[in-house]
Amino acid sequence: MTPGYTIIIRAALVLGLVGIFSARCSADGSMPNIVLITVDCLRADHLSCYGYPRKTTPALDKLAAEGMLFLNAFAQSSHTPTAMCSLLTGTSPVVHGVKAWGMPVNARLDTLPGVLRRQGYTTYFFIANTFFLSGLPGYSRTFDVCGEFSSAEEITEKILEQLQPGAGKPQFIWAHYMNVHRPYSPLPAEAGLFMHDAWYDANKNLPIVPQVWDSYGIGGIPLNLAQECGHPEEQHNPDYYTALYDAAIVRVDRLIGRLAQQFAAPARRQTLLIVTADHGEMLGEQDLYFHHGGFLFEPLLRVPLIFWGPMVPRRRCEFPVGPHIDIPASIFALLRIPPPASFEGVDVLGRRAPRKRFLFADEGRFVWCVRDAAWKLLCRRDMHTPAVEYELYYLKDDPAESVNLVKRRPDVFARLREQLQRYWQRGSDTGRLESENNLDAATQNALRAVGYLQ
Ligand SMILES: [Zn+2]
Repeated sequence: MTPGYTIIIRAALVLGLVGIFSARCSADGSMPNIVLITVDCLRADHLSCYGYPRKTTPALDKLAAEGMLFLNAFAQSSHTPTAMCSLLTGTSPVVHGVKAWGMPVNARLDTLPGVLRRQGYTTYFFIANTFFLSGLPGYSRTFDVCGEFSSAEEITEKILEQLQPGAGKPQFIWAHYMNVHRPYSPLPAEAGLFMHDAWYDANKNLPIVPQVWDSYGIGGIPLNLAQECGHPEEQHNPDYYTALYDAAIVRVDRLIGRLAQQFAAPARRQTLLIVTADHGEMLGEQDLYFHHGGFLFEPLLRVPLIFWGPMVPRRRCEFPVGPHIDIPASIFALLRIPPPASFEGVDVLGRRAPRKRFLFADEGRFVWCVRDAAWKLLCRRDMHTPAVEYELYYLKDDPAESVNLVKRRPDVFARLREQLQRYWQRGSDTGRLESENNLDAATQNALRAVGYLQ
């Protein structure tokens, strides 16, 4: 290569980087709209862009191809209020301290909508779960407007109405879709989309069992799920419920596709669209059926993460990401806002995102884990005593988390356990809320009704 050619390429690279950098705000210098979609219970490996053989997500596949797709995004919790508060505050569960429904959001912590509001954004939270906002005291306070809707379709139309061209201030809308959460709710006309297809095993037959640990079926179909959406001939077949789960993903995917199509219209303000989940769902792994929370196995932690918009580079990323702490940090970097000190995450859109890091997940009550590129250490506390048990997995060879290597690899065990101890220490250092749940009777009843309390 001649020196002149090198200079041209370098100049082109520099210009390219300038182009990417300056594109982080709109061409007219205004801040982009930001739409953050969280899909409750959406595990990454059931999206076709993550390799799932069923065509569940044509719209998200397109967004992934045009934007940034993160192949290794690990939720900060498997428990809805805990994960959602991590995304709200950009902090680990041990710092924000929300371990269960009914615990208040720590008012001393800054929040993603709070920071954006100070930058001139109007902030919205839309959800189709009437329990959510009453179950998380203080959550709604952090937004300018909160809206509860009866369906995902209504939420979608509200987003589009809110983001009509011509609105003066930039807007941040966080929408939480519930259709992939039990009872899995595809559109009725599409409920049979994957029934008896090539991946459906009609010969599976499991007992219907009383639900335990929140709402899991252990070794069988949880009774309340069979009652909610069972079918007389298929109710013993786990593939039936998984097919419903997948069809519910199709419903949400179509709505997200509708949003993206509208956002791409030239008359609209530039819009950054981010799609992720609060956590995944166990669909039979570890003999645990059709629920979340209570554990931190891979199907609960591996969630999708896609950034899409004219300011987002086109890239597939394999480095590890903690979406709930990294999304706020990445938004701040994109908008060139200095991140407030309490936010823990890193900018994963930039080239300097760390390729090696320890990531933590915290079920909030009984289970914690730390992972590096290859290893994962789980710590489970007994529900009734202070006793703890550890499980160590070498994920590269054992992605199903089946062989506990605590005794065989004491060196790795000690290294990761030290990281967990540091994680817990951070919690006690930051003065997190120590008050455990003091739920009133009405809240307890509401929690039981949706399966979060026994
Ligand atoms: Zn959830």
